[in-house]
Amino acid sequence: MYAFYGPRGWWPVRTKAGIPGFDSRGYHKGDYSLPQSPGEVFEIVTGAILTQNTSWKNVEKTIEELKQKDMLSPHALAGSDPGDIARLIRSSGYYNQKTKKLINTSLYFLKEKFLETSLSPGRTGLLSVWGIGPETADSILLYAFGEPFFVVDAYTKRLLTRLGCISGNESYDEVQKYFTARKKIPEALPLVHYYNEYHALIVEHAKQHCRKNPICPGCPVKRICRYG
Ligand code: SF4
Repeated sequence: MYAFYGPRGWWPVRTKAGIPGFDSRGYHKGDYSLPQSPGEVFEIVTGAILTQNTSWKNVEKTIEELKQKDMLSPHALAGSDPGDIARLIRSSGYYNQKTKKLINTSLYFLKEKFLETSLSPGRTGLLSVWGIGPETADSILLYAFGEPFFVVDAYTKRLLTRLGCISGNESYDEVQKYFTARKKIPEALPLVHYYNEYHALIVEHAKQHCRKNPICPGCPVKRICRYG
């Protein structure tokens, strides 16, 4: 998939879109040095929460609105009226729930000073926050804190099921364990970069070929796919 789709440049930093090194949507292909500032870390944390059950296109719009209103920080979110936040993030759907999640996460980040110290909240810490489940926690750890956690989402399950690797009834942790036990990392590639690209490639593959109704002709992994 990497040879077919190329590096994906995740996690996009929307507020950097269009500046040198970033494409028009904030992707930074082949550059694994992001995030480089507390603001970028928190933008990724915010995006990981907002993207729950909605498309990234909707999240891009929301992040721009938060940025415009100077609300893309834990201080601003924790100190704002929930109704104001809900209005601002409306385009990302489930806005009342997501408002609560953003406020809870902001309070947690402020209390533990993760942005000031660059210390990772850790998986257990993130999972203790209401509204953060395994997929969001692993996305935050991998893309905002550069820790090697493989992210499992519905696309991952669909692909692995079609390939014949899993039945599809496995839990999040079981799928993650299945994947991490079989990883084959190219020499000299850090594990965190491997997981970074792998998850992003699965998402790209699910959009281009392995859709709900798959487009198998031309699929780069067809020769190893039971379904295809
Ligand atoms: S061959 Fe078809 S079902 Fe299999 S991975 Fe490719 S697109 Fe998906």
